[in-house]
Amino acid sequence: MQDQFKRRIEYLRISITDRCNLRCKYCMPETGVNWLPHESILSYEEILRLIRITTSLGFKRFRITGGEPLARKGILDFLGEASRIPGVEDLMLTTNGILLPEMAFDLKAAGVNRINISLDTLNPERFREITRGGDVQKVIQGVYRSLEAGLHPVKLNVVVVRDFNRDELPQFMELARNYPLHVRFIELMPIGISSEHRNDFVPIAEMKEILGLEGMKPKRDIKGGGPAEYITSEGFEGSIGFISALSRHFCDTCNRVRLTADGKLRPCLHSAKEVDLCQALRGEKTDKEIAELFAEAVWHKPAEHHMNEEAWQGQRMMSQIGG
Ligand code: SAM
Repeated sequence: MQDQFKRRIEYLRISITDRCNLRCKYCMPETGVNWLPHESILSYEEILRLIRITTSLGFKRFRITGGEPLARKGILDFLGEASRIPGVEDLMLTTNGILLPEMAFDLKAAGVNRINISLDTLNPERFREITRGGDVQKVIQGVYRSLEAGLHPVKLNVVVVRDFNRDELPQFMELARNYPLHVRFIELMPIGISSEHRNDFVPIAEMKEILGLEGMKPKRDIKGGGPAEYITSEGFEGSIGFISALSRHFCDTCNRVRLTADGKLRPCLHSAKEVDLCQALRGEKTDKEIAELFAEAVWHKPAEHHMNEEAWQGQRMMSQIGG
């Protein structure tokens, strides 16, 4: 379907839980997290109903995220059912990779086409520090298992944080040279607790300078159709991508909307406007009425976000909205 600005919207990102098995410093506060109450989290049946409804509106691509989606019980059965819904052409997952060593092949068998793995550092101590206790070896094993399982393409998401992992960019680039991995460097967004740490932000131009890629021409043919600008080079098995929500925002080609773990539809990640679908799903509304509500919210997707403005504040944690 189209929105009022003639953007074709066919991609739904679904946060299936706000819980996570890591506590990344830029994502979650140290002093306890206010988890959403259990009863407010959509059940798998409710999410599957919504997926069916949105396919009737022309949605084709679905990304399951969180929180940590692999940590929610019953995820494999849910993914299997979602992948069999007529109209679901692309079922994708975003994960921190901790549970991938044992789950990568099962995900492929359940019908997941491809996977994004978040990995900000290859250094075990730094990983423990930024995730407050995680084991990087599990994620690295998970990356290899995903490649073996054929979850193609495997993309690595690296959020670049000044004074933390800026010096590792060349090492990540080597991964893309040696493996069929799409390594995407992401600008830190001022969302949730990161809105207080604007000095940690590293612009894409600076990342390219570190990698000596200033003059290279971007390519746009890596499967995804998203906001990343990819660069690949002779002798590379994979590619390097850059995602910038701040220094060069991509609102005019944004093709996605988001469903929060508690069933709110967010037409724009960076706008606090939400439409309550949970209430609609749990009330008396028919599929047709819910489709109308959904279509109406998509129609009003904002033209662009204003995250660059000082006054902007992210009201929710990324794990609730679904990064
Ligand atoms: N647990 C899964 C994972 O780690 O991929 C999915 C949820 S996580 C919130 C999704 C992505 O959002 C991760 O790649 C994470 O690094 C990213 N993220 C969280 N806070 C961010 C921020 N302030 N700026 C940019 N990316 C952020």
